Amino acid sequence: MKYIGAHVSAAGGLKMAVIRAHELGATAFSFFTKNQRRWKSLPLSELEILDFKTACTKYKFKKSKILPHSSYLINLCHPEKKLLKKSRKAFIDELYRCQQLGLLYLNFHPGSFLREINKDKSLQLVSDSINIALEKVKGVSAVIENTAGQGTNIGFCFEQLFKIIQKVDDKSRVGICIDTCHLFSSGYDLRTEKDCRNTFKLFKEIIGFKYLKGMHLNDSKSTFNSRLDRHHNLGKGNIGIIPFNWIIKQKEFENIPLILETTDSSLWKQEISLLQSM
Ligand SMILES: [Zn+2]
Ligand SMILES: [Zn+2]
Repeated sequence: MKYIGAHVSAAGGLKMAVIRAHELGATAFSFFTKNQRRWKSLPLSELEILDFKTACTKYKFKKSKILPHSSYLINLCHPEKKLLKKSRKAFIDELYRCQQLGLLYLNFHPGSFLREINKDKSLQLVSDSINIALEKVKGVSAVIENTAGQGTNIGFCFEQLFKIIQKVDDKSRVGICIDTCHLFSSGYDLRTEKDCRNTFKLFKEIIGFKYLKGMHLNDSKSTFNSRLDRHHNLGKGNIGIIPFNWIIKQKEFENIPLILETTDSSLWKQEISLLQSM
């Protein structure tokens, strides 16, 4: 079975994210457990945790189909010691919030090297950060998202993502989330079924589907290999509808959350039912 949803807002309390996902007809969803543009947030209250869990049960969302996204401020390979420490602390806090909510995964972008250290050193720092965090918070897995390779973002190719995984001590608690827009803008073509087969054959060979814990289904406003992260609604951008139809038909994408982060959220309901009908 395919589990499809969107990255919904948690404005008004975390349980609102669950309600919004339900209203979209979703069977999976993503959300921020805190304000994604701020370093600090109040700890979750017992009531908020309970309300969230109750809503998940009421609307029949399985915890393995919920993929919270971490703050954009976190940079797990920051070249400055002080800011690396700050990022790690924030990352641990986010993992802890997921644990409190009874969730299994935290999706995050690996980070940016900011031109001060080399790529291999940065990848090592990301792995170190993951190791430190997983040691502190049990029960939640770190799910690394591929990036478009914008600026000095790392994690834009399968080799880099696998290098991060290789140096994580507990391989059972690390995974990958593939964003189709980022894939396309980082130079993996998806426009035809043949492109999809080739791209995911590479994924299988270099990383392996056992690490795939989720997908972000986005079309792209930016062009192929542009290294620009610009999402678009399905079928409206430069990727087109073909890969989404293809993904829905492959068994490799079964039982993981397939999340829309497309730009016009008024189309999510339509997009979800379109994907479900495929
Ligand atoms: Zn994404
Ligand atoms: Zn993006």
